[in-house]
Amino acid sequence: MTTTAITNIASLVTNDPSLGDGSPLGLILDAAVVIEGDRVVWTGESRKAPATDNAVDAGGRAVIPGFVDSHSHLLFAGDRTEEFNARMSGRPYTAGGIRTTVAATRAATDDALDANVVRYLAEALRQGTTTFETKSGYGLTVEDEARALRIAARHTDEVTYLGAHVVPPDYADDPAGYVDLVTGPMLDACAPYARWVDVFCEKGAFDGDQARAILTAGMAKGLHPRVHANQLTYGPGVQLAVELDAASADHCTHLTDADVDALAQGNTVATLLPGAEFSTRADWPDARRLLDAGATVALSTDCNPGSSFTSSMPFCIALAVRDMGMTPDEALWSATAGGAAALRRTDIGRIAPGARADLVLLDAPSHVHLAYRPGVPLVQAVRQRGERAL
Ligand SMILES: [Zn+2]
Repeated sequence: MTTTAITNIASLVTNDPSLGDGSPLGLILDAAVVIEGDRVVWTGESRKAPATDNAVDAGGRAVIPGFVDSHSHLLFAGDRTEEFNARMSGRPYTAGGIRTTVAATRAATDDALDANVVRYLAEALRQGTTTFETKSGYGLTVEDEARALRIAARHTDEVTYLGAHVVPPDYADDPAGYVDLVTGPMLDACAPYARWVDVFCEKGAFDGDQARAILTAGMAKGLHPRVHANQLTYGPGVQLAVELDAASADHCTHLTDADVDALAQGNTVATLLPGAEFSTRADWPDARRLLDAGATVALSTDCNPGSSFTSSMPFCIALAVRDMGMTPDEALWSATAGGAAALRRTDIGRIAPGARADLVLLDAPSHVHLAYRPGVPLVQAVRQRGERAL
């Protein structure tokens, strides 16, 4: 197999503390990376690089691992421009909310849903995302949830069954009946396409007992749990996630000291989704508190048409640094290695021998520019599994 060296890298983030400066980012200055097939086979200082078949000059740019967006909702149709505009304009808005998206998604063709995923994946790639997770949750019938996951599985291995997003209007008077559906026929139809089971554990969605029933039913079918937890209010979601060894508790905006302790002690990653707080003008999650307690923190977009319609990991990094107490180094780690941890993956989110060759070249000398130059399209090139994808 041919080997390719990427040389003249001003600063390389490896996310391997055994490499480079010994920090969590494993930073190497004046670096090179050698790729063979879809894998990284060597990283180090340029002057020590081994001979290779081909060489590519990075032109003194920074190279970082491709972003791992561990939380998105891309299986939808329609948009909610009017709702966002009203919210940000201080005008009342009474039309459907999530019901609007559910109705549009149910009415969409398979091709339209697939095209929507392709469109937002291309958009995310242009901003450096090389791995993404995505969920069902806007179908809320057996057929529509299974269809969403079948389409999602064409594009990623990280597919999440979120039949328990909200209780749909058709079950408004019978939420227990909906939980029976989610843990019964809908699960049976969806499990073959999914790796993960998720639940929106929140007042107005599913309570702790319902969430436990939904997650344990999924686990009995071989799915691994993750939880939408503690977004709008305090609640049992985070503790349940840690107790069930969920890979991730997502949102974590309202946390008690006991919640923070549980995340710090357990294996569950706290995934923060600042696009949601931005788009709803809500209070930010406190990343500093979680990091100081010793919890593992991931950053993700929560890309969805209602509460966080961004596919941009650099945008999330900028928000996390500006408003959530993260350093630029911590935010970069959380958007790459943190996302990988939230998906229980070790082959992505780092640039070290054996890792998948998912690399982003920034048109900047350092990853710090992602927060220092917010809103600027700094992604200059992307390699996915070793191949130029952008
Ligand atoms: Zn979400």
